[in-house]
Amino acid sequence: MSYPDTYYARTMADAATRATLSGPVECDTVIVGAGLAGLTTALELARAGQRVVVLEAESVGFGASGRNGGFVGPGYSTGTDAIARIAGADKAHKLHLLSIEGMEYVRSSIRDLSISDATPTSGVLSVLRYDGGADLKAHAEETRRKYDYELEYLETHEVRQRLNSKRYFQGLRDGRSFHIHPLNYLRGLAAAIETLGGRIYENSPAVDARLNGAAKQIVTADGRVDARQVVFSTGGYTGALNPRLKRAFLPIATYVMVSEEAPDLIASAIATTDAIGDNRRAGDYYRVVDGGRRLLWGGRITTRAGSTEALVRELRSEMVNTYPQLAGLKTELAWSGLMSYARHLMPQIGEMAPGVWHCTAFGGHGLNTTAIGGKVVAEGILGTSDRYKLFEPFGLVWAGGLAGLAVAQLTYWKLQMQDWWRERAA
Ligand SMILES: Cc1cc2nc3c(=O)[nH]c(=O)nc-3n(C[C@H](O)[C@H](O)[C@H](O)COP(=O)(O)OP(=O)(O)OC[C@H]3O[C@@H](n4cnc5c(N)ncnc54)[C@H](O)[C@@H]3O)c2cc1C
Repeated sequence: MSYPDTYYARTMADAATRATLSGPVECDTVIVGAGLAGLTTALELARAGQRVVVLEAESVGFGASGRNGGFVGPGYSTGTDAIARIAGADKAHKLHLLSIEGMEYVRSSIRDLSISDATPTSGVLSVLRYDGGADLKAHAEETRRKYDYELEYLETHEVRQRLNSKRYFQGLRDGRSFHIHPLNYLRGLAAAIETLGGRIYENSPAVDARLNGAAKQIVTADGRVDARQVVFSTGGYTGALNPRLKRAFLPIATYVMVSEEAPDLIASAIATTDAIGDNRRAGDYYRVVDGGRRLLWGGRITTRAGSTEALVRELRSEMVNTYPQLAGLKTELAWSGLMSYARHLMPQIGEMAPGVWHCTAFGGHGLNTTAIGGKVVAEGILGTSDRYKLFEPFGLVWAGGLAGLAVAQLTYWKLQMQDWWRERAA
């Protein structure tokens, strides 16, 4: 099994391994990439009676899906205003409703498939690092009016009852959002696909794709899959296999660390099981895990695979800056993962050629959006809906290559500076 050393891999509920593809196989739809996007697509197709094959270069959940923060909430990597500027207000509204449906899909899958080791825990708390409650109240009101979605407004003293930090001011608590053990969730989906007759091959990178004509072929080192439909769901790990996808995304790394066991020390700072994110555009996200014994803390992005040790120093200094009482809390392990970002920051979902689908670029907001992405792609393949067309305004535009990466890094630094100035002024 090939996983990086993460908290999730160490606490994985099942140790099933899967065969490498050998020889020719045939199916209705072949899916390349066993992250959340690929497995949700596969599950929905298998539920509808299709014969599906999933090819994974490493192990199920090797990519971002098996090593993320675990926050499941509505929305996308960019805000509704930016979405409306490209797609119009009506589509932006519908897309937001889809993002809520994606969150509910994860919740109901965990329940219906009895994936109890995904340990869903309710509550995501979003907090300000400057005094600005009026904006939050307005946001909560707008969310209620537009989407019939409740957010609980918390005054500074209520936030500080839960989070013992002078850095924080007002907050919004989203009681519908939740957090999970993402690798266990994903492995639960994989088991469900196999129960329905789907086949998943690990250590089977697709190395060639023959996509012209009605019959498609995906080739691996030792095997071949013949299918009528192909779905590419290779996320931030997309290689040269599909050049159109490759030029349409930027791989962006982000970082997570997990502490030693120190339940009392952690509780002295964080007295909630809610997952927490601050409002900065380049902010921190964290939550207690392991029944409150450990703290999982994530943040920072880089456009090059930075040294994890150096990034951990930065994450630790963020953590201690927020909670000086945690200065003695040791970090036990840390890892990074690659996200896939399009230039417009929205998922790239659609049929790029007859029978050739893509479901990718979920950025840092992938737990709900991969779910709805997989669902609408499956509906498109089955011909039961054309909801995937809502994503048409966000096409496979060139992401800018190396220059795009440089711009992304500069934009991130600019956002960090803006956040810093805003906090200083507060
Ligand atoms: C550290 C981190 C924290 C995050 N935190 C959150 C969070 O809290 N909440 C949230 O909503 N989102 C979060 N995200 C984002 C979220 O994890 C991703 O958007 C989502 O998992 C993307 O899923 P995916 O299926 O598109 O890609 P991936 O999960 O990356 O899967 C792609 C798979 O394709 C495989 N592959 C690639 N090429 C081939 C090939 N040629 N043949 C076969 N297989 C191939 C890869 O091995 C990989 O397993 C986070 C991401 C990271 C990295």
